[in-house]
Amino acid sequence: MCRHLAYLGPPVPLSRLLFDPPHGLAHQSWAPRDMRGGGTINADGFGLGWFPVPVVYRSARPLWSDPALPSLAATTSSGAVLAAVRSATVGMPVTESAAAPFHDGPWLFSHNGRVDGWPDSVAGVAAELPVRDLITLDAPTDSALLWALVRARLRTGASLADALSPVVSLVAAAAPGSRLNLLLTDGRSIAATVHGHALSVLSTADSVLVASEPLDDDPGWRPVPECSLLVADASAVHISEGVFS
Ligand code: GLN
Repeated sequence: MCRHLAYLGPPVPLSRLLFDPPHGLAHQSWAPRDMRGGGTINADGFGLGWFPVPVVYRSARPLWSDPALPSLAATTSSGAVLAAVRSATVGMPVTESAAAPFHDGPWLFSHNGRVDGWPDSVAGVAAELPVRDLITLDAPTDSALLWALVRARLRTGASLADALSPVVSLVAAAAPGSRLNLLLTDGRSIAATVHGHALSVLSTADSVLVASEPLDDDPGWRPVPECSLLVADASAVHISEGVFS
């Protein structure tokens, strides 16, 4: 169910994340190794966001079928990137606007997973949002609602971690069994939750790469434990375990 990644560090061509590694995001789109909760490939759209602006490029087509993407990725470099490939949850539309990254101001967001019992299970949680936010969701999907909940917290000044954590806790309580791997960046830091899906991290002295699946066989990749919250910048990674039940 969806694969996502975020990178902070020295500028790299986007192709270094998508196409060059043996198990880059392009490979993960058609040959993912660790799909859970349904779905076999991630062919229902993709998206890339890169800083400093940030610029977002999303599509409803499979990543591998976009003829412009290899040259775009080879010639565009960035030191802060969030990218995702999508496997739509049954019943959710395949549209460009349903593909991550979701974007507002300096923030890029992605969700890997699904909200069980959607949408009725989270009607109470959604009720905390202004009606305007509900009727202007990017798409009628669980991920778009999660983004609206996270964004509302960011707009009040919450840190990336403080925007993600309560949303996972609230939605997990309202919709048990949900898979809620959330990924958020403002171009300087990354926050990510591990709740129902895999996540790995590779850090060096001046870079960090967080991804649903390792992109290569570098022995530095570390799995992030279930129920953890990861916060990272280019020089440090902090993992809080047991944050979610
Ligand atoms: N449930 C979300 C959607 O349909 C995310 C799907 C996924 O992680 N595969 O867009």
